[in-house]
Amino acid sequence: MAMDVYGLLGNPVGHSLSPPMHEAAYDELELEARYATFEPDEDDIEDAIHGADALGIAGLNVTIPFKQDALEIVAPEDLATRIGAVNTIDFSGSGPPTGYNTDAVGALRALRDHDVTIEGAHAVVVGAGGAGRAVAFGLADAGATVAIANRTEPTARDLAEEVTRATGHGLAELETLVPEADVLVNATSVGMEENVSPVPTDALHGDLAVLDAVYRPLETKLLREAAAAGATTVDGAWMLLYQGVEAFEIWTGRDAPVAVMNEALRSRL
Ligand code: NAP
Repeated sequence: MAMDVYGLLGNPVGHSLSPPMHEAAYDELELEARYATFEPDEDDIEDAIHGADALGIAGLNVTIPFKQDALEIVAPEDLATRIGAVNTIDFSGSGPPTGYNTDAVGALRALRDHDVTIEGAHAVVVGAGGAGRAVAFGLADAGATVAIANRTEPTARDLAEEVTRATGHGLAELETLVPEADVLVNATSVGMEENVSPVPTDALHGDLAVLDAVYRPLETKLLREAAAAGATTVDGAWMLLYQGVEAFEIWTGRDAPVAVMNEALRSRL
């Protein structure tokens, strides 16, 4: 049987956790498959994707700086088009490769895995960059009302106009938005490698579920303070895990061995 080749397209990709996570799944299910990393020059991204297709590569994840470029090169699903970025490409069809954004589903599955109800929830998304867009569209599609708060307030307002049942705010409004919320997602880089939180401590409460997209460190200041307030906490590795699980399931059509992938990921964080 021929080996299936998957991979990650980005620059740089040296510290990616995707190879061990996916290869653990191939081992578990005894699939003849490998997951490689590719670092094309920025000018070569179109050739790289068409070349992968021509070579029979089965699927690619896409990361910085190519997520937006990929949208123009593949046939994107509706959700990826709305988010404005593709992070997963499936080459299995006979037509042009299909582009997906699994960050949105990754965040939803991370929350649902922790028994968080999304339909009808009042959600606050902090951040309106790539992750913020994915989470905002994902939560809205799943039936939440979404308040988007961003340091650059006009970006939040612009995004809110694109998302169903959404409003846009500055960070100062978190003080009043968070006490009314059921779900809070940090989709900024605040808290990455440093002990700071984008959310005022006194706004956190025990009826809240908090997902932090940041996964280095796993326990951010936001999650520590949320746990102290009695909130349900979901760290960024869960979102990272489930975006990979979703990609695996799109590519192989099989249920991913989630526990094995989770172990492979967490043992390296
Ligand atoms: P991005 O597109 O560059 O967006 C960055 C966001 O952070 C923007 O909303 C930006 O606000 C905000 N921000 C940056 N510095 C800030 C500061 N000092 N104070 C307040 N807000 C600040 O980045 P991204 O791709 O969305 O990634 C955001 C974070 O999510 C990163 O930590 C990334 O690692 C993480 N992430 C995790 C997963 C996962 O699977 N766990 C997936 C994707 C991303 P402005 O608009 O005002 O600049």
